[in-house]
Amino acid sequence: IGEIIRLQGDTATIQVYEDTAGLRVGEPVVSTGAALEAELGPGLLGSIFDGLLRPLPQLWTDQGDFIRRGLSVPALPRDRRWHFMPTVQVGDPVGPGDVLGVVAETPHLEHRILVPPDLQGLVVEVQAGEFTVEDVVAVIQEENGGAQRKIKMMQRWPVRRPRPVLRKLDPDTPLLTGQRVIDTFFPVAKGGTAIIPGGFGTGKTVLEQVLAKWADADIVVYIGCGERGNEMTEVLSEFPCLVDQRTGAPLMERTILIANTSNMPVAAREASIYTGITLAEYYRDMGYDVALMADSTSRWGEALREVSGRLEEMPGEEGYPAYLAARLADFYERAGRVRCLGHDAAEREIGRMGSVTVIGAVSPPGGDFSEPMTQNSLRVAGVFWGLDTDLARRRHFPAIHWIRSYSLFDLRQWFKTNVAPDWGVQMRQALALLQKEEQLLEIVQLVGPDALPEAEKAVLQVARILREDFLQQSAFHETDSFCPAEKGYWMLRAILTFNQLLTDAIHRGVPLDKAMAVPEIAEMGRMKEWGMPEARERIRELIERLQRTFVAL
Ligand code: ADP
Repeated sequence: IGEIIRLQGDTATIQVYEDTAGLRVGEPVVSTGAALEAELGPGLLGSIFDGLLRPLPQLWTDQGDFIRRGLSVPALPRDRRWHFMPTVQVGDPVGPGDVLGVVAETPHLEHRILVPPDLQGLVVEVQAGEFTVEDVVAVIQEENGGAQRKIKMMQRWPVRRPRPVLRKLDPDTPLLTGQRVIDTFFPVAKGGTAIIPGGFGTGKTVLEQVLAKWADADIVVYIGCGERGNEMTEVLSEFPCLVDQRTGAPLMERTILIANTSNMPVAAREASIYTGITLAEYYRDMGYDVALMADSTSRWGEALREVSGRLEEMPGEEGYPAYLAARLADFYERAGRVRCLGHDAAEREIGRMGSVTVIGAVSPPGGDFSEPMTQNSLRVAGVFWGLDTDLARRRHFPAIHWIRSYSLFDLRQWFKTNVAPDWGVQMRQALALLQKEEQLLEIVQLVGPDALPEAEKAVLQVARILREDFLQQSAFHETDSFCPAEKGYWMLRAILTFNQLLTDAIHRGVPLDKAMAVPEIAEMGRMKEWGMPEARERIRELIERLQRTFVAL
């Protein structure tokens, strides 16, 4: 199985996506007559595929532990019957992207069968009932006396071509992740792009997995691209046991996993990235919010470098192809919040909205962010969650560096309306405290902590609490691995109230040691463990107690 990657005169260069050992001159080559395509239709959710969209569990039962060469198994099961419910009638005019009917792909997700993007016409046949993905469910007469087109639930799409949309919309809604440092300081918008660069062991994989588990997307596509097999095993064994916070259904029901581990052919990594984003766009077109996690895009970059080397192209920076930046930009450009093509059957005039959010991990060798993959990804991504080796070494997780990271999305308005009116104010205060700490620590390095006045020592204390009790969040803690935005708000509020009380107390002449000995401080460290909705009341009550204690000091 391969793809033609260059045509020159009558010579085609084929990138084979499998092991080529033993291939000889004179071997026959058979053309499929099509570009590299993905099969789209009901049955994708909950599946585990390889980079070429072959279902791995199926391969395993048929073939055993290793994928033999030349094996092709269709992505969608051919024998499974789905109940198709039409939403149009015979005689209805339909256009690109209109919903023809729906299928309950899972108990919580309505799979919408859409008119292909290049088709406009009249419905001449449509029926309800149980069908396989290959059965014809509707027939459409193309307009202006064109041909009759048979519509099946399954369609194919060339993975390198973005699926068309009506138009792109401003990203103004956050993709809530349940991670305090992200939601509070560096939020990503639905339809935005984020990158997670970090050296070895800084927590990229754990963060990608946490986001896949908790992000408030309707559908998650997780691409394990060139990562070690054992990391993928963790995902594969853990995901089926997890429960979706919103629906209470198994998380796998809204997840598609694409596993292309490091021992699989390098070139297939490229296929896995494009296949993944095509699946994401397909569900976006139905009007869903999709999050795509790619771990790690650097392995894809390496594949590009290798393929480009074999094509004897002029190498760019560090041996990467000169078109690396363009390729990355094209890929990230496929993210976005959009108004989809077509109409809903119910509200004929209003189109659906959907989004694809892309979150890519980058593994710069030696943790050096100046290398081409990180730099080129930075140029196109809207959010930068820079993982820091020092923080990871000190076991501060997630190791997102609060000074170096940034988000270009201004989502404060959403948080103001939906969480708390003073969300932005709190956020700025907290960031200012952390920045102040950074400056003070430099002074401490030069002259030692004793030279600082009490008020500045107090800043260091509050910043420490902010880091330990707010920013640190274990991915493995039962309650704390997911923190709703509202709980994060109240936690921050408690710490900032404490900051205010402490500053006032120091001004009144209360010694820092005495102020730091109040029992409520230790209790702030336990806020993480309180589950919602009790946490709100408990934190409110803690804030009141803090105020009483400080008045009495
Ligand atoms: P990378 O993919 O960057 O090489 P990993 O994601 O495998 O690194 O993380 C390395 C280790 O760091 C994990 O095994 C885990 O022990 C720890 N770790 C990372 N992130 C977290 C987190 N959010 N909470 C707790 N531990 C974490």
